[in-house]
Amino acid sequence: MNIVADSKRIDWPNTCFVQSVADANQFPAGDWPQVAVAGHSNVGKSSLLNTLFGRKGLVKTSKNPGCTRLLNLFEVDAQLLVVDLPGYGYARAPKAEKNRWARLIDDYFSHATELKLVLLLLDIRHGPKDSDLQLVECLNEAGIRWLPVATKADKLSGNERSRRLKEMKDAIMLAPIPTSSLKTMGIEQLRNVIEEEAVSNSADTIESWLARTTR
Ligand code: GDP
Repeated sequence: MNIVADSKRIDWPNTCFVQSVADANQFPAGDWPQVAVAGHSNVGKSSLLNTLFGRKGLVKTSKNPGCTRLLNLFEVDAQLLVVDLPGYGYARAPKAEKNRWARLIDDYFSHATELKLVLLLLDIRHGPKDSDLQLVECLNEAGIRWLPVATKADKLSGNERSRRLKEMKDAIMLAPIPTSSLKTMGIEQLRNVIEEEAVSNSADTIESWLARTTR
């Protein structure tokens, strides 16, 4: 992965929580690049964000799946805004709740002009579910770049892990980055991708990006 030579590396632990917002209009002023992180509830999003930031406990793990209704904003090294989207797909959530989630996300995607990349978190053991595929469709329609990230890779051993990764790639047409928060695996690669996609000023085409990430 080439990082443009003059781009400043991000000091990831220099991250702080900014605020939680209930809709896109409440975003703080500023035009920092944004990276949003999405996934099914319980996919390991809070754990991954804490590991990515190198800050244990900064992102609260939700004890109550499906009960997060806000976008949580994190400022990373005064260069980047990471937007933690509420987990979706909680089977027992009432329909009205699911509709609220969809409206919130739709609203965010249509207003986030500085959104550079969405990380789609998928549990390596389960692969993409219908709600993940719906999100992929929505991102593709909106022309928003996204990257699959397989979580909890430590739960599978070598061959099984490779097999699941290939199945995921076949299902969504992009190769996921395998990660484990428990074993701090894949985190540097993820940081590099985010730095290149969101912070460096490299003019890049979607074609070359796809060629690089689809291996
Ligand atoms: P969230 O609901 O998506 O924010 O998920 P959490 O980060 O709260 O994680 C859900 C559950 O998965 C918790 O019990 C975590 O301990 C577990 N978990 C998260 N990441 C990993 C990982 O990399 N490996 C393993 N083995 N478990 C994980």
